[in-house]
Amino acid sequence: MKRLIVVFASISIIGFFSYQFKNTLAMMLFKQAITAQVTRDLVLDYADGFHVISCGSGTPLPDLSMAGGCTAVIAAGQLFLFDAGEGSAETLGVLGLRPSRIDAIFMTHFHSDHIAGLGSMALQRNLGNNIKTSLPLYGALGVEEVAEGFNLAFAQDHAYRIEHHPSLNAPLEALQLEARAFDLPPNGKFPEIYAAKGVSIRAIAVPHGPVRPALAYSVEYQGMKVVISGDTQISRNLVLAATGADLLVHEGLQAEMVGVIEQIALADGQTALATIMHDIPSYHATPVEAAQVAAEAGVKSLAFTHMIPPLPVGLLEGPFLSGVNEAYGGTVFVLRDGHMISLSVDKAPIRTKLL
Ligand SMILES: [Zn+2]
Ligand SMILES: [Zn+2]
Repeated sequence: MKRLIVVFASISIIGFFSYQFKNTLAMMLFKQAITAQVTRDLVLDYADGFHVISCGSGTPLPDLSMAGGCTAVIAAGQLFLFDAGEGSAETLGVLGLRPSRIDAIFMTHFHSDHIAGLGSMALQRNLGNNIKTSLPLYGALGVEEVAEGFNLAFAQDHAYRIEHHPSLNAPLEALQLEARAFDLPPNGKFPEIYAAKGVSIRAIAVPHGPVRPALAYSVEYQGMKVVISGDTQISRNLVLAATGADLLVHEGLQAEMVGVIEQIALADGQTALATIMHDIPSYHATPVEAAQVAAEAGVKSLAFTHMIPPLPVGLLEGPFLSGVNEAYGGTVFVLRDGHMISLSVDKAPIRTKLL
């Protein structure tokens, strides 16, 4: 009996110390991970280049691995976002792209999967020191309503935060969005809507009806050009604007795969989902159509984002890209959240990296 007590006591002591050690080890790892996370600042690290990063390749279709529509561009030490879908602010933070570094957000259109993260984006940006001004939100007419709506929806949250952290002296504007609206350009015209430090950003009208306005954007820097399609059908105007681009970031909807979802939803009696799956191909481009745009415009590389349906496993990229290589001879990428494409001033081949 005495021996049994000794054995139990020994096990308890070992258990106690290994439990304590486990926690100590966990806290050490936590500190290391947080140091890497909090001190990471990609804009500073990549300030002298031209980089495109996916901060959200997702769509309204559920996919835990991808945030809603968001493409980030670093150029001349500036950080620009194109759309801010659900979860994109948090994804930026995880990637080491500090929201406080954002110089401006450019809206392609006002579908929910492209705007849902705007409130969080403006809020997270305020974590940066000395932010005293609102976050510029560029877009075609209608963007004022989006900015006002988010500012209003978050007004109570903003008031709590200002009251709770008085020493930060953050003015209300520092937590808000500020709309910078412009007219939807006609086809064939690509007005410059932003220019600073050698970076020029132009707006391009694209067809996404009944969604109007809908825009693509081009970003030019040091003789290089990146074009971001937004949501669009196959677009002649986009071919014109993307001519000679180094990189075209394009949406893609694979109609056959969407048809499979429609049939399964129909068989399950989910008529609303089936109807939506039936209707959405009409205002998106298939991967082959995007490849045709890239080929006709003579772009050097094509990167897919906003993939419909989501491609949770790499194996599905095969059917998604079916026919793309026949239509387009350049390099093709499928962007996942955290993928970075770097362009080189000396015209070296573009490089990709998963952050
Ligand atoms: Zn969309
Ligand atoms: Zn859309």
